[in-house]
Amino acid sequence: MDKVRHLVVLGGGISGLSAAYYLQRMSLNGLKHTINLSNQYNKITVLESSPRIGGWIESTTLNNGAIFEHGPRSLRPSGVGKNSLDLVNNLGLSDIVVPVLQSHPGVKNRFIYANGQLHTLPSSLGALFKKQTLFSQRLITSLIKEIFKEKNCKQDESIHSFVSRRFSTEIADYLVDAFCIGIFAADCRNLSVRSCLPLLFDAEQSRGSVVLANLFPSADIDEGIEKCHLIKRAQEEGWSNWTLRGGLQRLPDKMHQTLKNEGVNVTTSTACTSIEFNQTNAGKMVANIRTSSGANIEADHVIGAVSSQALAALLPECHSTFTNVLSSLDAVDVAVVNLEYSGNVLDKQGFGYLIPSNQKCKLLGVVFDSCSFPDNDRQESASTRLTCMMGGSWFQEYFGDPHSVDHDHLLAVAKETIREHLGIVQEPENTAVRVQHKCITSYRPGHFKTLENLESYIEERNLPLSLVGSSYYGVSVNDCIYNARKTAERIINSI
Ligand SMILES: Cc1cc2nc3c(=O)[nH]c(=O)nc-3n(C[C@H](O)[C@H](O)[C@H](O)COP(=O)(O)OP(=O)(O)OC[C@H]3O[C@@H](n4cnc5c(N)ncnc54)[C@H](O)[C@@H]3O)c2cc1C
Repeated sequence: MDKVRHLVVLGGGISGLSAAYYLQRMSLNGLKHTINLSNQYNKITVLESSPRIGGWIESTTLNNGAIFEHGPRSLRPSGVGKNSLDLVNNLGLSDIVVPVLQSHPGVKNRFIYANGQLHTLPSSLGALFKKQTLFSQRLITSLIKEIFKEKNCKQDESIHSFVSRRFSTEIADYLVDAFCIGIFAADCRNLSVRSCLPLLFDAEQSRGSVVLANLFPSADIDEGIEKCHLIKRAQEEGWSNWTLRGGLQRLPDKMHQTLKNEGVNVTTSTACTSIEFNQTNAGKMVANIRTSSGANIEADHVIGAVSSQALAALLPECHSTFTNVLSSLDAVDVAVVNLEYSGNVLDKQGFGYLIPSNQKCKLLGVVFDSCSFPDNDRQESASTRLTCMMGGSWFQEYFGDPHSVDHDHLLAVAKETIREHLGIVQEPENTAVRVQHKCITSYRPGHFKTLENLESYIEERNLPLSLVGSSYYGVSVNDCIYNARKTAERIINSI
């Protein structure tokens, strides 16, 4: 390669780190196999505005060894999750993966809190035939009826409307409302079924029924993911989800270390402050990036792995059509309250519980961290870790301005609510309160169209820019890693 080709990644969250990791790997492989050399990048820089790496992935180790997760805590091993296991395996982190098996109470026992009590969700086929406390009909009735419902050819609709139409309003109001709160901390009446739950949307479009598509699934598409020993283990042992011993933060930390060892320049405490796209004398589009440290970097390609709103703020007025769309992708604020108690204070084992929005409760849900991942408890004596999630779409309504909310108030609400729901009167020994601002993007109905518009704007103007991150193609950590890989492949393969 005769010329330095510089690729700059904005954001050192899991998306940005993954994009840099895959590009570095693909460039190295390209050099080995001497293919497509003109598309390899021999200089990769990651700019991260905060002093730490990992974005929303953040774990704190308490003095007693217990872990508090302030963001994500577990990943699923199936679907695109296989790609994350492959990554973890390649990074040499297999030994610290802590799985939860499908047979574990932390998986089988999932609860919904409604009408003053905890309801156990069905975890077996047999349970669908029994009358559940939360529903007026046996669930099997709605499932059988769904098979015969007519297919709707709408391009998109809200999750609530989709589920009410195909199953029942009761299932939408309680089960799916709570499920969406657990993933998006948002109201399923304003979330796109096509973008948030693509498997449901595709099931209706391709098979005419969600139930049929689940009873007779199409072959699993592995998308070129080789089956490493961790993927095989997950399948053989029946993992439901997994985390890392010592906290999920160990994933971005290890990626950071690996990138540095391979010569990628990862710079923390350095924000990108503006980007301009210019044409060189040779007619090539480049990006001119300014940073908070005063540097001016010319990049052959930029990966925007910051939130859509953060990216919009970096682009000049001449791209206002584009930035207006980026800014319109709204995200919710979530308060995360971690609690650690001495002894076992739970009289139920399970994953935790979620609270449907119609209950008008100030909590979104509670995760029983100790049940699923006791490895991350303090080790010298029995203890219980819980995490309360609060706010989301309802933050303003219950707590006012997320920037000025009193953290002691959030802690008091969390303790009071779990006293009422779980009967825990004991004071926690350790606590932490974080308000995570604009942390999960709410994909509104029509989100797919918004993405098409954004991508065609970039393509039509030949901008050397790629969009990755949770604002666009999936909010889970698995989605972020997988989409970063796909973007890296596209960049390397583009001519
Ligand atoms: C409370 C919570 C719980 C969650 N639980 C789960 C879970 O259990 N499982 C799961 O799969 N997912 C979960 N998620 C979702 C998942 O954690 C996120 O979607 C994912 O981590 C987003 O990663 P990202 O890299 O796209 O964005 P981010 O993590 O937001 O990273 C973007 C980075 O860009 C940096 N940045 C911003 N502006 C600039 C700039 N101008 N210049 C340079 N850098 C900049 C930021 O500091 C940040 O580090 C959870 C999210 C939250 C908030």
